[in-house]
Amino acid sequence: MNIFKYFGEIFGAIKSLWAGMRVTGYYFIHPGQIVTQKYPENRKTLKMTERFKGEVIMMHDENNQHACTGCGICELNCPNGSIEIITDKITNEAGKSIKIIDKHIYHLSMCTFCELCIKTCPSDAIGWGQEYEHAVFDRHKLTKVLNHPGSSLRKKPSKEPNQE
Ligand code: SF4
Ligand code: SF4
Repeated sequence: MNIFKYFGEIFGAIKSLWAGMRVTGYYFIHPGQIVTQKYPENRKTLKMTERFKGEVIMMHDENNQHACTGCGICELNCPNGSIEIITDKITNEAGKSIKIIDKHIYHLSMCTFCELCIKTCPSDAIGWGQEYEHAVFDRHKLTKVLNHPGSSLRKKPSKEPNQE
């Protein structure tokens, strides 16, 4: 082997080791800046960032009401069939038959977190939840009904007389 190449390779290895150890050494003497989380010991205090995509959820208010009309647009836009919308028909106060959501079924095990369902929902009824522990022994547990039991569609605020 060429002697220059031999020593060049040794020098390159030492240089790259030094570059890595410099970063390690910096955080060793500045422990306050360490961002590594002590998981799972910190389960109770761990907060994910706002942009974290844990799972698709349906937002409910304090009256157990949501904004999902059961239109099915999220189901149509999901590229891999992770959403199933089951609707029901009821008669409203005006005696008119209307469609309501019965079950908004979400298969987390198939979801690729592409966000198309959330982006295309015309009612902003669904969003990202912060849950991050999804390991289960039975994959059926990853199929969820997003509308809570007993929940109902939130009524839209009536328009002021001077509004169009
Ligand atoms: S979540 Fe949104 S897009 Fe999906 S059925 Fe409900 S209102 Fe329609
Ligand atoms: S995030 Fe994408 S893959 Fe997951 S349910 Fe929504 S549309 Fe389907």
